[in-house]
Amino acid sequence: MNEEIKQLTELQVIDQEIAKLDAEITIEQADLAKMEEAFNERQTSIQELKGKIDAADTQRRDLEAELADEMSRIKERQSKMMQVQTNREYQSLLKEIEDGKKSIKEKEEEVVRIMEASEANAKIMAEQESLVKDEQKELADKKAKVEKQASKIEGQKEKIIVKREAKAKNIKDSALRKYDMLRTRRNGKAVVGVVNGVCQGCFMSIPPQHFNNILKGDRILNCPACQRILFYQAGNDQE
Ligand SMILES: [Zn+2]
Repeated sequence: MNEEIKQLTELQVIDQEIAKLDAEITIEQADLAKMEEAFNERQTSIQELKGKIDAADTQRRDLEAELADEMSRIKERQSKMMQVQTNREYQSLLKEIEDGKKSIKEKEEEVVRIMEASEANAKIMAEQESLVKDEQKELADKKAKVEKQASKIEGQKEKIIVKREAKAKNIKDSALRKYDMLRTRRNGKAVVGVVNGVCQGCFMSIPPQHFNNILKGDRILNCPACQRILFYQAGNDQE
């Protein structure tokens, strides 16, 4: 194999190790982000429940004040009943009292409905609060674990980066730049073999004349389709 390509393939092995470590960190951090999201969602839902309960409390207190007013109005009407002169006045007061009682009954029922709904919400909220407490602990544990893991991986990465720098020093700048560009664009695979005349990066057939040049291995050649750097790799076409 062409010496420069050989150096690049070795560099690629190192880069793949680095990419693997980066992926490990990314996975751990994605896990953590998922947990954080679930935790935040639960906190939001607790806040929403709390808001509902508070609003229901205000509504209940308003209704209770209205009930008290209604009751004193009825009492007032009832005492007036003693002093009425005409049947018409009597009937009118009676109707007002009846209407008042009806309104009281409706409001009382409404208060019961509100209290029942609030009790149900309070029960759900208590469950959510207990869960959020557990999740908070799990989240803190996970965070610590991920941080520890990440710093361990970073340590491993630093060592490999030193190795990479030493390796890269032996490679011409122009080749290195080309390689780095391809590595970024081609998902970490910049140098690939040609097996049975097929590029192992994009799996397109290499034209015969181009393939013959690759076989010679005297210079860096790229795949006409994906531009990856190619080297000849024995397949079952080997004699
Ligand atoms: Zn290709």
